[in-house]
Amino acid sequence: MPEGDTIFRSARAMQRALGGKLCTGFETGLATLARVNDDAPVAGRIIERVEARGKWLLVHFSGDLILLTHMLMSGSWHLYRTGEKWWMGRDRMRAVIRTEDWQAVAFNVPVAEFHTARSIERYTQVPKLGVDVLGDQYTVESGVARLKAYAAERPEAEIAVVLLNQRVLAGLGNVYKSEVAFAAGVNPFRAMSTLTDRELEVMAEVAGKWMKVNVLDGAGDGIVTYSGNRRTTGATNRQDRLWVYGRQGQECRRCGALIQMRKQGEQARSTYWCPGCQPWLPAAGQTAEAPAGRMVKLVGRRRSTSC
Ligand SMILES: [Zn+2]
Repeated sequence: MPEGDTIFRSARAMQRALGGKLCTGFETGLATLARVNDDAPVAGRIIERVEARGKWLLVHFSGDLILLTHMLMSGSWHLYRTGEKWWMGRDRMRAVIRTEDWQAVAFNVPVAEFHTARSIERYTQVPKLGVDVLGDQYTVESGVARLKAYAAERPEAEIAVVLLNQRVLAGLGNVYKSEVAFAAGVNPFRAMSTLTDRELEVMAEVAGKWMKVNVLDGAGDGIVTYSGNRRTTGATNRQDRLWVYGRQGQECRRCGALIQMRKQGEQARSTYWCPGCQPWLPAAGQTAEAPAGRMVKLVGRRRSTSC
């Protein structure tokens, strides 16, 4: 699944190439978009701005028209020079925005809709309240404030599920969720009510810092893919770049305990943690027993790709 940093990078690359330019052509394979385009053509408008809000990508055109897309598991935006060959087949194309020099192509996006400024504000799924960890306004204080406000509302919520909630902190995905909890020494299954101010602070801080580092890594990307250069350990080689994500059954880089993995939350997303560095701390009324990870055979060890 694309993380917020990937969507942010797509939006930034598109903003650089298309921002302020005249849209010279628009094409779509989706009937709902085509209808709007027939009534109020996109070509001839200025592409005012491309922005990421959490996992949504918004292309603002002049004349109060916004193209809203969500990548979910399979979608992506590619940017090509005019005349350049696409990396995916036309059958997967859902929308193309053309300027004189560029074409931005949305492949396989499962959600693509036209909106106005007003209708997008009413659209509840697009994050408004969440502080975007990649936004210029993001500070540790604003991140902590959001986490605390949510803890007051839902004290029993598990921290790793909350870190994925785009209305709390927008932009964090499943990889960073586990990495951020590790950085703070927080067991991902702990209830919000058990977290200390210091733990919230560390999580709010590294969330912003790591996401920004990973975005800077991709500076200058022409074509944005999901190959993932994500790293949190500071190491550049692929197999050492993360602390816990994808490492179940392997030794913790810090304490040597075996990293565990368990599905978590309604969406059963994989959560990775070190039982040594991230001890279990029950809330009042919770069992004192630590959540157990899946047993892993160490023979013929295979790296999990699920997220
Ligand atoms: Zn450890």
